[in-house]
Amino acid sequence: MVPHSEAERPHDLELAAGLIAAARRGLALTGAGVSQESGIPTFRGPDGLWRRYDPVKVSSLEYFMQDPAAYWSVARERGQLVLQALPNAGHHALAALEEAGHLAAVATQNTDGLHLDAGSRRVIELHGSGRTVRCLDCGARETRAAVHARLAAEMPPRCLACGGGHLKPTTILFGEPMPAAATAEAFELAQAADLMLVAGTSLAVYPAAQLPLVALEAGAPLVIVNAEPTPFDRFAAVVLHGRSGEILPQLVERVVPAGRG
Ligand code: NAD
Ligand code: ZN
Repeated sequence: MVPHSEAERPHDLELAAGLIAAARRGLALTGAGVSQESGIPTFRGPDGLWRRYDPVKVSSLEYFMQDPAAYWSVARERGQLVLQALPNAGHHALAALEEAGHLAAVATQNTDGLHLDAGSRRVIELHGSGRTVRCLDCGARETRAAVHARLAAEMPPRCLACGGGHLKPTTILFGEPMPAAATAEAFELAQAADLMLVAGTSLAVYPAAQLPLVALEAGAPLVIVNAEPTPFDRFAAVVLHGRSGEILPQLVERVVPAGRG
């Protein structure tokens, strides 16, 4: 279980809020931790999914190509959870910080689409989106929800457009290249950022974990909100340990005057 955030540390909260309030082109970087309170298990960390499945195996392109049915039987359970999930207070807080003019964008390693649901306007999905499925033969796209609806009758699911191609979610599996446009956009924003706000990520997956370094080199202060320590804590101006769904709204309360955002 992720422990509830400690109520002390008012000083750190004020410090972080001050840095966010001063920012005009901040970049947020999020990971699986921000969606944990929406009921989606993280890969690493407390309750991590990686304790139940072999992550590289079930999330690799090689595994998908060898046995799409096995891939889809894992994806079916997890995907259903993601399709039903709702954004939490942490997602809403990041949308409010963008609305109030402090964040330019959210770059996320998540594929669940919850930042968009919460109202964030500029969302850079570094690892693609799990809401869409694409045919590997003809390229036709369908919603994930439509494919899930027929999984009970068809495993693995096949493309309706060409009548046979294998369908793969438009997420980036291990062994696939990062989406070039999204990656370039995130690095440009990190370079131009006047604040880097990291939330709910172990900062263990590159190149996403490179973004805070780029921002730091460009002179932006780093604020980290995470349940556990990360390898970047020592570079941060402020580290707030706890739940992002509790801490991010506390920051918004201090940064965005009541009635706005
Ligand atoms: P991760 O699973 O490696 O790390 C998650 C981090 O979040 C951990 O450090 C953990 O301590 C922290 N955490 C857990 N609950 C938290 C909470 N309530 N508040 C704050 N922090 C919390 O995730 P990652 O670094 O994002 O990388 C794993 C990869 O797996 C990602 O690239 C992503 O594509 C994928 N993934 C996506 C989802 C999703 O879309 N929701 C979920 C799991 C994994
Ligand atoms: Zn097809």
